[in-house]
Amino acid sequence: MVIIVETGADEETIERLIDKVSALGFTPHPIYGVEKTVIAVIGEKTQEKIEVLETMPGVERIVPILQPYKLAGREVQPQTTVIEVGEGVLVGGERVVMMGGPCAVESYEQFLNIARYVKQSGAQMLRGGIFKPRTSPHDFQGLHEEGIPIAKAVKEEVGLPFITEVLDARNLEALHEVADVFQVGARNMQNFALLTELGKADRPVMIKRGMSATVDELLQAAEYVIVEGNDDVMLCERGIRTFETQTRNTLDISAVIALKRLSHLPVIVDPSHASGRDWMVPALSKAAVAAGADGLLVETHWHPQEALVDGAQSLTPLEFANLMTSLRAFCEAAGRSL
Ligand code: PEP
Ligand code: MN
Repeated sequence: MVIIVETGADEETIERLIDKVSALGFTPHPIYGVEKTVIAVIGEKTQEKIEVLETMPGVERIVPILQPYKLAGREVQPQTTVIEVGEGVLVGGERVVMMGGPCAVESYEQFLNIARYVKQSGAQMLRGGIFKPRTSPHDFQGLHEEGIPIAKAVKEEVGLPFITEVLDARNLEALHEVADVFQVGARNMQNFALLTELGKADRPVMIKRGMSATVDELLQAAEYVIVEGNDDVMLCERGIRTFETQTRNTLDISAVIALKRLSHLPVIVDPSHASGRDWMVPALSKAAVAAGADGLLVETHWHPQEALVDGAQSLTPLEFANLMTSLRAFCEAAGRSL
């Protein structure tokens, strides 16, 4: 349930209310909106406890939340969450945030060259896997610990915040040094132990939709992070597995529309993994903006044919720059900027 706090209630009244919620054995989760403050109340309810809360000063009304996602839903927070990444990059605001870079950090030179170029083309964030989830154990798994100082040097050199996947909670401490956003990969979307650990982190988290997960399951994965106290969660649609063989996955554009309606969390689209094909990425990026995406995650490589991972879906620097140019008009048509 959610306690809607009376407009104009002072800080002390709100504090007392929060204390009461805790004293009754619930976990309070206050959300300070521009117009309204609400307190999401997590835990087993009884009619008696609800009645106690209803009589507390500052309570306008108490409403039940029917959906399984209590904290990620728009019911509890009508306005879209805006997450600050690094210093000054806002995800969930008016500007569509482009995250560019290679699938995997392969070497200092490889990462630096592409990072410089995506920055120059207008990307606001840098991507690059250090720990890679590969289907085969015989394939390149990422540079692991060796990649951390490389990524750190490059991101500092180009001055862009960096998003990278955390495959295992045991790597969180090491990645803390370099990651501005922790990415949870599709294969880990329901790794509840990892999500719980990320809920305790002091950094934003981006959760990618599992390849056979429903929208509701994605939202409940986000719930695992938020319930631990980390509100800075973004969701990512990266294609789901269907019977179609022309594409690596099928970009579920309607999931973007649904997520934007159901949840206040920013939604990112990954047209690279969704299609698996470089030439589809520009059109899918435009479709994502039309559907209301708050950002895009686009794989880019200096020499896609030599990429250690995901070359077929990686844009060349020139293709990336062209995408940025052509996307700008679409963003403006959608009332956004890039
Ligand atoms: C990636 O972003 O490189 C990645 C592995 O993505 P996903 O988890 O969506 O497959
Ligand atoms: Mn990839």
